[in-house]
Amino acid sequence: MKGALTVRNLTRRFRVGGGFLRRSSWLTAVDDVSFDIPAGTTFGLVGESGCGKSTLGRCLLQLDVADAGTITLDEVELSGLKKRELFDLRKRMQVIFQDPYASLSPRRTIAQTLLEPLETHEVGDAQSRLARVVELLKLVGLRESVLHRYPHEFSGGQRQRVGIARALALRPDFIVADEAVSALDVSVQSQVLNLLRDIQQQQGLSYLFISHDLAVVQHISDHVGVMYLGQLVEVGAADAVFWSPKHPYTEALLNAVPVADPKHKRANTALQGDVPSPLQKPTGCPFHTRCPKVMAKCSVDVPQLGAVDASDTTHLVRCHLYTP
Ligand code: SF4
Repeated sequence: MKGALTVRNLTRRFRVGGGFLRRSSWLTAVDDVSFDIPAGTTFGLVGESGCGKSTLGRCLLQLDVADAGTITLDEVELSGLKKRELFDLRKRMQVIFQDPYASLSPRRTIAQTLLEPLETHEVGDAQSRLARVVELLKLVGLRESVLHRYPHEFSGGQRQRVGIARALALRPDFIVADEAVSALDVSVQSQVLNLLRDIQQQQGLSYLFISHDLAVVQHISDHVGVMYLGQLVEVGAADAVFWSPKHPYTEALLNAVPVADPKHKRANTALQGDVPSPLQKPTGCPFHTRCPKVMAKCSVDVPQLGAVDASDTTHLVRCHLYTP
């Protein structure tokens, strides 16, 4: 199996503002993030809008250049690759976008859309490319008869299937799915999630699944990272994070997920206030301005990501409640 990804101390900062007699400031969108995605597994990344999830995904795909840290795909260190090496790498790393309508050109037929990556990377001859396109349509549950149709002739779910087929065209090892089902109806979401899972089992590729929707992430992930203001605040196996959350932010996010059973009562830990501006991060623990369990030292001391207990070094949390 291929597609093992290792991320260490990844940081991405942006210069904001500045101008005549005005000082610019720095916004840290991704702050010292480390995690692993074993080959053939899915890492779900959750957090509120603007927490840095998509910037992290773009850095992994080398669509954005990180300021510090390393990204390794199956022993290949990605930073510093030459242009040609990066072009070849793009075959192995693909993306599925949130809005299938916006990500497909309205002027191109489905055949043209799916042939494009194969032609760009000069894969096979014209006949084998067409055969691959037909194979891809079958893989995502669409008929060959749709080849000469345009995106506007499809439903949202069908368009996202085309987006998935395009991402799979070059047989990638790793896919970033950035809010890939957020624009779809709930009934269609589960179909697309099951499709992604089936393809993973058939082809052994790995996913970074970015979403603000915890129910969706729980459905598809093997491991989960919870992000707040550019930092991972909790990381672990999906079952451990969803059934035994440790960080107060993870608890609050989970308690906000609606439950179908009226007898099942969630704890009332609704988050107070808005997410602070990343340009003026709170001191100490960045979550202390909204945390229901805040302590005196939380506004002063910066918590580090560490194991919840010595018996499980895979479940990590960034919170003073768990530091000696
Ligand atoms: Fe809350 Fe303090 Fe833990 Fe931050 S360190 S999450 S403020 S208890």
